[in-house]
Amino acid sequence: MAERGARSRSTGTVRLMASATSRSTQNRLLAALPRAELERYFSELRPVSLIQRQVLYEPGALLTHVYFVNEGVVSILTKMADATTIEVGMIGIEGAVGTAALLGGETSSQQALVQVAGSALRMNAAECKAAFDQSPAVRAVMMRFIEALFDLSAQTVACNRLHTIEQRCARWLMMARDRLQDDIMPMTHEFLASMLGVRRAGVTETAGELQRSGLIRYHHGRLTIIDREGLEATACECYRIDHNLFMRVCDAGQLGLPEKIKSFVRMRTKNAPRPKHVEV
Ligand SMILES: [Zn+2]
Repeated sequence: MAERGARSRSTGTVRLMASATSRSTQNRLLAALPRAELERYFSELRPVSLIQRQVLYEPGALLTHVYFVNEGVVSILTKMADATTIEVGMIGIEGAVGTAALLGGETSSQQALVQVAGSALRMNAAECKAAFDQSPAVRAVMMRFIEALFDLSAQTVACNRLHTIEQRCARWLMMARDRLQDDIMPMTHEFLASMLGVRRAGVTETAGELQRSGLIRYHHGRLTIIDREGLEATACECYRIDHNLFMRVCDAGQLGLPEKIKSFVRMRTKNAPRPKHVEV
């Protein structure tokens, strides 16, 4: 895992010490790019930590950076006037946060919330847009992901309306598992309820049923998927659709992994100045 940031009590701000480790370069979008394009357009990528519950963007916030996720999961949430939130997208190693900036967007329409801690490589949104505008290769890779994100949002709308809490809960856990590539994840019922847009009591009951069925184990804020096949069978059809989208984006990125992207970042960070502090 990447280094975690520390909260500064004196300033009240969260200061994140960026970590520059070669093993934190797992992002499939960057991995899918030709090396020449990486060197030409992405030399300003900087590693940053993602802390659980860190808000990368609030609705209406200026899109200043694009975050290429290396580890962890970020939820894209629609926030209502009464502060109720519901998840409409999920981004992990297959994607990037803030891609609306590439399409000309200036502000975020949704909230981007770190759901599982990890790390990202981030760059200035204007520079990323310049790469997107100038390089057909960058555009092709990013558009494939953006299309997948649109498809996920559309599917989630239907899912939220038509499928049961149990189906959605199982789907959500499997989606998070794909992006984390791990059966263990930090989780609270409250947080899961917020993601699914349901009451906490409903999630507690559902998680209890999944646990009694032997599909998951939940203990002290840590959820473990015990029976992956059983959980997938419990999930609605939307999980399989998302999984296929996820794999399509990842498969393209796999072509370049592992050495190309790793050596690129290793080379770039080797002579880099001490990583900057990032205030959010
Ligand atoms: Zn569904």
